[in-house]
Amino acid sequence: MSLIFDLHSHSNISDGLLSPSELVAHAATHGVNVLALTDHDDVSGLALAGAAAIEHNIQLVNGVEISVTWKKRTLHIVGLNIDPENIALKAALAEVRVARDLRAQQMGEGLAKAGILNAYEGAKLIAKQSIITRVHFARFLVEEGYVKDTKTVFKKYLVRGKPGFVEHQWMSLEQAVNLIIDSGGMAVIAHPGRYDLGSVNMLELLHEFRSYGGAAIEVVTSSHTPPQYQQFAKLAHQFSLKSSQGSDYHGQGISFMEMGRLADLPSNCVPVWQDWPQFQSIAH
Ligand code: AMP
Ligand code: MN
Ligand code: MN
Ligand code: MN
Repeated sequence: MSLIFDLHSHSNISDGLLSPSELVAHAATHGVNVLALTDHDDVSGLALAGAAAIEHNIQLVNGVEISVTWKKRTLHIVGLNIDPENIALKAALAEVRVARDLRAQQMGEGLAKAGILNAYEGAKLIAKQSIITRVHFARFLVEEGYVKDTKTVFKKYLVRGKPGFVEHQWMSLEQAVNLIIDSGGMAVIAHPGRYDLGSVNMLELLHEFRSYGGAAIEVVTSSHTPPQYQQFAKLAHQFSLKSSQGSDYHGQGISFMEMGRLADLPSNCVPVWQDWPQFQSIAH
């Protein structure tokens, strides 16, 4: 029997819409057997997700998606099978969240100059207890009727050069990979096709990532086209990296893809779960 893996998803602990337990229930309903919850810069949803996973008879992989600055660009590094109780990881992520809140206040100031008042306060209300992400600003701007949809908000307000964009220094690639490895996890470059790197920088990134002990790249993700599955499968092979797959589900209306609909990894890929003890007999 082959299992359905979805190794990238978000709950309302970061910018997803569903609570960790609702997300797990949703994954189970959509046929996912192995789910990683990978909230941005926060691992506090994993305990609830783990409890729900037992109830819904699916396997939860403890994950996180860490924001990184590399060559002045923001990259996302997913950690899989991390220990959510690891002290160094928890402390580093807590620091990231403090800086993230200051960034959100600066985003609010930028938007105020463009005539959009109280955006920080509005985004914070939407985020409730969670971190504030650009998605929360987007939801605020849509709810207030400034813009018709999330996609347009990003384009007009939240990307580089626009009023709500703040140049932010996240942690380094090396630090993120080390934190993940030191907490027992595997580091995975999230949606590599989404970074506007060019081929020279992409090769440099993969080389550097590998040298820090990075384990895998996402090959099949909602951010990639089928030709990109092949392109990144080839690069994974070239750099002896394993391959991961995930929907990057955020919830109805803000996701690119529903859960349980991912294509299989190309056959030349070594799955990131290959050596995970619980799947050894069933993984291909
Ligand atoms: P932040 O970490 O605060 O910069 O927010 C990044 C999040 O915004 C990503 O994880 C996505 O969920 C979301 N996002 C980024 N770009 C877009 C876009 N063009 N349209 C919709 N959502 C986006
Ligand atoms: Mn997100
Ligand atoms: Mn991401
Ligand atoms: Mn994500």
